[in-house]
Amino acid sequence: MPTDQRQALNPRTGMDVDSFREDIRQHLHYTLAKDQYSSTEWDKYKSVVLAVMDRLHDRWIDTQQQYYDQQSKRVYYLSMEYLIGRLMDNMLINLGLQDVAAEAIEEVGFDYDEVREAEIDAGLGNGGLGRLAACFLDSMATLGVPAIGYGIRYDYGIFDQDIKDGWQIEKPDMWLQYGYPWGVERPQKSYKVPFYGRVKATEDKGGRLHFDWVDTHNVTAVAYDTPVPGFQNDVVNNLRLWKASSDEGFDLKSFNQGEYIEAVRSNLLEENISRVLYPNDKVFKGQELRLKQEFFLVSASLQDAMARFKKKFDDFRKIPQQMAVQCNDTHPNLAIPEMMRMLMDEEELKWDTAWDIVTKTMNYTNHTLMPEALEQWPISLMSDLLPRHTQIIREIDRRFLNTVHMTNGDSNRKDRMRIISNEMNPRIRMGNLGIVGAKKVNGVSELHSDLMKKTIFKDFAKHFPEKFTNVTNGITPRRWLRQCNRDLADLISDRIGKDWVTHLDQLKEVEQFAEDADFQETFKEIKYRNKKRLADHIERTSGNVVNPNSIFDIQIKRIHEYKRQLMAVMHAIVLYNRLRENPNADIEPRTLLFAGKAAPGYTMAKLHIKLINNVAEIINNDPDVSSKLKVLFLPDYSVSLAEKMIPAADLSEQISTAGMEASGTGNMKFALNGALTIGTLDGANVEIREQVGEDNIFIFGQTVDEIEENRDSGYSPRKLYEEDEELKQVIDQIHEGYFSPSEPDLFHPITKALLSDGDYFMVLGDFRSYVDKQEEVEACYKDEFEWNRKAIINVANMGHFSSDRSIRDYCERIWDVEV
Ligand SMILES: *Cc1c(COP(=O)(O)O)cnc(C)c1O
Repeated sequence: MPTDQRQALNPRTGMDVDSFREDIRQHLHYTLAKDQYSSTEWDKYKSVVLAVMDRLHDRWIDTQQQYYDQQSKRVYYLSMEYLIGRLMDNMLINLGLQDVAAEAIEEVGFDYDEVREAEIDAGLGNGGLGRLAACFLDSMATLGVPAIGYGIRYDYGIFDQDIKDGWQIEKPDMWLQYGYPWGVERPQKSYKVPFYGRVKATEDKGGRLHFDWVDTHNVTAVAYDTPVPGFQNDVVNNLRLWKASSDEGFDLKSFNQGEYIEAVRSNLLEENISRVLYPNDKVFKGQELRLKQEFFLVSASLQDAMARFKKKFDDFRKIPQQMAVQCNDTHPNLAIPEMMRMLMDEEELKWDTAWDIVTKTMNYTNHTLMPEALEQWPISLMSDLLPRHTQIIREIDRRFLNTVHMTNGDSNRKDRMRIISNEMNPRIRMGNLGIVGAKKVNGVSELHSDLMKKTIFKDFAKHFPEKFTNVTNGITPRRWLRQCNRDLADLISDRIGKDWVTHLDQLKEVEQFAEDADFQETFKEIKYRNKKRLADHIERTSGNVVNPNSIFDIQIKRIHEYKRQLMAVMHAIVLYNRLRENPNADIEPRTLLFAGKAAPGYTMAKLHIKLINNVAEIINNDPDVSSKLKVLFLPDYSVSLAEKMIPAADLSEQISTAGMEASGTGNMKFALNGALTIGTLDGANVEIREQVGEDNIFIFGQTVDEIEENRDSGYSPRKLYEEDEELKQVIDQIHEGYFSPSEPDLFHPITKALLSDGDYFMVLGDFRSYVDKQEEVEACYKDEFEWNRKAIINVANMGHFSSDRSIRDYCERIWDVEV
């Protein structure tokens, strides 16, 4: 290479192909000490990551310095989960480097797809809540919001799912096995997080009481930072994840007593705090270690935030102008008493001053109305682990209850509103604490926010009407269209320009092409290619052959009774029975794909997985139907698998019992990628229907009100079973072992739940309406022009569901931050 060209290269920062290529080579050689012969897929991937990181660092440092200089109000997003998935494509796209990197990678002699696939998903979340936090990070950076995401750096994220004989098997997720090249360890950014101990009260000369939390057992939180670039705007925010390590490297006393090994033995108990993500989605389990994790996150993050504040300010009353804290569900709601403790016990503010600050700074997002999900910690456990916080919570409760009065002779009102329940073994209700201590409380879709005010938080909505608001969830169009469906993104950009990537409302302009023959043709080809790609992936990874000309009917999400995977598999059985009855029935070929993890302790959900796999086994091996119907359960659902499946979907299954899915975000991803939705009027499905129009979505089933009426008027699943022949046949088959011939009783718990235990999720109540709606779906699919027209209209009307819009709403309605 000529010298002048060599000088122009800047392998560390150059945004051109030559610089990038040289940087990859240098990292492979000088950082990893490998060459083209000895390097593994991981080495290749890592050398690319390091080259990308080089291009992030200047921007990262500059962004943080700017926030500091401009005294920007910071948004502190506290979340126990971040389901971020792979980062390479996301980083390259946001840096505007994807094509440059692709060329550079090929020039080095690596394969781009292999490099991408070498990355292990960061699966630090269960499902929607964690993925939402990840989409919000992307949007906050893209909008230039001075935000920091705080979370826990679990050694093990969500378990890997294997399927063995149709059953889910959990395996540890070893995502850190070879290190995490997107993370920078900051050993000097660490804080002591205290636990246990006792509260010592002393009176000062002026007669004022001081409370000291003493004799604590301390754990150290160490920061690990991951850069979060905005979309081509040179902003790089920070995701700071805390890892637990034992406080003192060794115990000096034992050391001096000659118990050397004892003294330096690693304090496993402390390090356990960041060991593993709890794999429960929407169920509260009450384990002490989980409470420790929650306080660990809150304490380290608030210490960090407060240290940042104190660098510039000494008047704590300025906190609400400098900080907005957002709690992603109740999990971080100990931030309320913790901030009170810091302000009173450490900064010596009076209660009223501290309370005024806290209640102008904290905010809480509610994610579910389901009672089993609501966190309620036994006060015995809390007072043992966090004695000072328990005192403070008691005092918050006492003062709050003084403001609550009985209305209309409703003597239970006070008891319902207490933070600490009035029972033999009192529990701390984290939702109530969140409402009392927060400035704003939001639900995550219009319907959910409404129901929140009418049901679980009715009393609070009357008491604090000004606190309640809605922010409908969203998804980042960078990952969920530009990245996962490049061909569709390019088609759209070709017709309406590229600005939609950050202004998703502009997709509306695509609507004019809904009936355009050219556009439809290309749109159809892209969908076919995506389906083919998924089919190839399925064949490569499982050996199963699927027909890309069939309807790809997809339900992917956590396995949960309220999400009703059971209803979808029952529909497959209906189609199967119809085809068995009449192999020449005019049924459109269909491939029903499921994926999702069940919580390891959720027996019924695991049985649903087994049922899906057994039904698949019978159907797929029946030569009379296998050309028309195929059912598959793809193992190990993850962000990366979602990115492969969603662009290939024709039909999106969003079939939860009305009132139970707070928002859903999977529903948005599918529609944005040109799938049509079959769904209930639940969560954000309601808003999707408003946006795309009722003719362009397949809505079925009971509404929230109808569900309630039905329950009140003595819902009888058995009557429905008796009166619907097709339904009866399906249930009988499941019950009698048609799908489990070697173990005929295997699925009895399922039929019992449906017929004898009241069918709480009203699968039978919506079954007929669902099956009939599926016939409409099929008829529509046969009319290719109509189907594509509707699909294009769906894409065109997804602007509302950009997480950029969600973040703008948070800025305006909650954080009081300008964007
Ligand atoms: C979007 C997403 C979810 C949430 O899906 P819902 O259908 O809204 O429950 C869960 N897991 C992953 C990996 C996702 O990408």
